[in-house]
Amino acid sequence: METTIKKAPLIASEVIKKRPLIISGPCSAETEEQVMETAQQLADTGLVDVLRAGIWKPRTRPGSFEGVGTKGLPWLQQARKQTGLPVAVEVATAKQVEDALHFDVDILWIGARTTVNPFSVQEVADALRGVKVPVLIKNPINPDLELWIGAVERVAKAGITEIGLIHRGFSNYGNTEYRNAPMWHLAIEMKRRNPGMMLINDPSHICGRRDILLEVAQKAIDLDFDGIMVESHIDPDNAWSDAKQQITPGQIKEMINAIHWRKEDVNSEEFHQVLEKLRQQINHLDDEMMQILGQRMKVAEKIGEYKKNNDVVILQTNRWNEILERAYKKADPLGLSKEFITRYLDAVHMESINHQNRIMNS
Ligand code: PEP
Ligand code: MN
Repeated sequence: METTIKKAPLIASEVIKKRPLIISGPCSAETEEQVMETAQQLADTGLVDVLRAGIWKPRTRPGSFEGVGTKGLPWLQQARKQTGLPVAVEVATAKQVEDALHFDVDILWIGARTTVNPFSVQEVADALRGVKVPVLIKNPINPDLELWIGAVERVAKAGITEIGLIHRGFSNYGNTEYRNAPMWHLAIEMKRRNPGMMLINDPSHICGRRDILLEVAQKAIDLDFDGIMVESHIDPDNAWSDAKQQITPGQIKEMINAIHWRKEDVNSEEFHQVLEKLRQQINHLDDEMMQILGQRMKVAEKIGEYKKNNDVVILQTNRWNEILERAYKKADPLGLSKEFITRYLDAVHMESINHQNRIMNS
């Protein structure tokens, strides 16, 4: 490394209040040189607030690179000194917490594979007792909001006051567009249940590939997320983990500059009046839909009554297919996606069945 300027690392508690908060760095610390070079290039963009790097890697299958371990921590300590960027590391055990803190790691995060396991989260939380450090908690790999909330509660009970959330998507079976389905509604619901808690998006682990990182990051920013965590590597194709989704520090700069950072609000009377009117229209339509759904359930109950009198089962699979096919045809010209219609009708149909079931067994 050529650069010799040493900067006093910024205070993590201050840095994490910045909006938008940008965290970047390699999926894994691999070598001292890779860490130092990545850190310097990221710092040079002037756009990155926190340097991330995985030291212990929870890999799905054994035999993959499982992280350099504790020997990588002095590299991060050095990078922190060199660039002034606070550093963030994933921890999953008490020993990892202890080692990370010993080497001045500023921010800890709990990974998706750890959030699913209350024993591990509790172990990490216990190790954090009496420590003042910001902790970011990734969503669990499965779409279970309670587990995510449980992890937040365990860490909070240990006395940690600076807690943030990272939305990194949810596992699914088979190949899909995303490595991890974003299920934005879960992140939004988590935010609603934890008002005021920082929520950032991790497009790298959602996408699993480079070409749609910007699109996902933009969506998160449009949904008023507080920032993003994106993986970067000086030689992405040859990264020891998550090679397909990493981008160079130069590309990080391009991406951040390409994002349209919209305002959260605007100080104009007219804007608020127009918005209020449109929102009233939405409320009105929601009320109408509620009325119609109520009527639909009444009809379902009548069907239930009729089937009961004729002693036939509730569910006729053909009928369900017919409902879906009809709806898809009608939804398309209205600009409603197949995915939305399926989810909507699934909920409505299920409720209908429950109503019929109650009638049949009454
Ligand atoms: C990571 O951030 O490199 C990581 C392992 O992420 P996740 O816990 O979201 O899989
Ligand atoms: Mn990764």
